[in-house]
Amino acid sequence: MTTLADPVPGGRPGDVERATALSDELSDRGVHGIVLSYVDTAGVGRVKTIPTAKLASAAAWGVGMSPVFDTFLANDSIVATDVLGSPDGDLRLYPDLDRLAVLAGQPGWAWAPVDRITQEGERHPGCSRTVLRRIVAEAAERHGLTFKAAVEIEWAVGQGAAADGEFVPATTGPAYSATRQVELSAYGVDLLAALAAQDVDVEQLHPEYAAGQFEVSVGALDPVAAADRSVLVRQTIRAVAARHGLVVSFAPAVFAQGVGNGGHVHLSAWRDGVNLHSGGDGRHGMTAGAESFAAGILDHLPALTAVTAPSPASYLRLKPSQWAGVFTAWGRETREAAVRIVTGTAGLHDRSANLEVKPVDLAANPYLALACLIAAGLDGLTSGTPLPEEITGDPARLDPADAAAHGVRRLPTSLPEAVAEFRKDERLRSALGPVLADAVIAVRQGESAAVEGLDDERVAAAYRWKY
Ligand code: GLU
Ligand code: MG
Repeated sequence: MTTLADPVPGGRPGDVERATALSDELSDRGVHGIVLSYVDTAGVGRVKTIPTAKLASAAAWGVGMSPVFDTFLANDSIVATDVLGSPDGDLRLYPDLDRLAVLAGQPGWAWAPVDRITQEGERHPGCSRTVLRRIVAEAAERHGLTFKAAVEIEWAVGQGAAADGEFVPATTGPAYSATRQVELSAYGVDLLAALAAQDVDVEQLHPEYAAGQFEVSVGALDPVAAADRSVLVRQTIRAVAARHGLVVSFAPAVFAQGVGNGGHVHLSAWRDGVNLHSGGDGRHGMTAGAESFAAGILDHLPALTAVTAPSPASYLRLKPSQWAGVFTAWGRETREAAVRIVTGTAGLHDRSANLEVKPVDLAANPYLALACLIAAGLDGLTSGTPLPEEITGDPARLDPADAAAHGVRRLPTSLPEAVAEFRKDERLRSALGPVLADAVIAVRQGESAAVEGLDDERVAAAYRWKY
């Protein structure tokens, strides 16, 4: 379990002693530096690093960093809101000692996600990790609910020697093929070893559909830990690739055409240790709460895409009939519905039933994405929103009248459309708080302006190596 407590200047009781012991142990293991990691509003992972000997000081007083990164774009230019984007001010980054991992793919380094607080010791309203922690804590207090989540990671493996900016797949084997697995055998096994050494429990690693594409799925954790894990897994995938002379792209669309990289989110709600998605009287064993939770996510999906598909390149991926789930539809094990109900196999329903949300990619800040998905689900659950009729097959094949009758809507086809939906969605904006909601809008508008006039191939190229 991730601690739900905020960092405190001077450290919480025991933090400094613990960090001191940890830094001694890390030094003995040959760890010289610690990567302090967070994800900005645009979805780019940003870091500072400290020598291992400074861990106790970081646990007590944090490490300085400008708040300006909250309004950075993926191309490193800066936009502004009323509150954020100014060159003034400083924040303190506090490593979460519970989530510190020694990086097997980067010998000599450890890694820890950070919470950001102000110099005065207040929560920083732009910190997405803090916002997710708050939403999880409130769900526990007000509704007695906890959650389990996991983010699937898809990525394309390219030749390191390719011309600057180009992507040339490192394997040409067919989708899901043994050829692909064999050609990148050494990379794959080093990746599995590195993830195991970092206590990431991998469910499976497989060659995917698109050129050079692979996918890893990992075990579910509480939402903050799941978001941390998604960042750590990507850091590891990239680092191990570099040791093999390979490059990786997590971009939603490596090319303008064809299947992209998804970051599907699996999510389940639990009360008193009981999974709400199984053992109920609803469809496929869902309880009434689980049906309404799914309905809440479906209702908010058009606005959610501004958070779960935050890049102009996200809309190159979000096309019908590519398993990216671009319609507000749900179904059991339906790979074209935006929300797929996963029951698990007989004998495992109570442990493994969950829902999968597909229109999510890896440009999404995973803390923001999970915060908004949980807020949307809770909105449905507390309002008792009815779950519409199930859809089977590809919703793209429904004729318009049928689609309308079933409440099946195409999700936004561009980032500006998604932002317009997000602006109208007061529930999501208030879940994030006004400072972060404004940052989401400003950053998305900045990204849209940055690609004005570019054709699809150029948009794909602009974001190919950013995430
Ligand atoms: N690559 C697909 C996507 O963009 C997902 C394929 C799958 O279902 O694993 O979401
Ligand atoms: Mg996949």
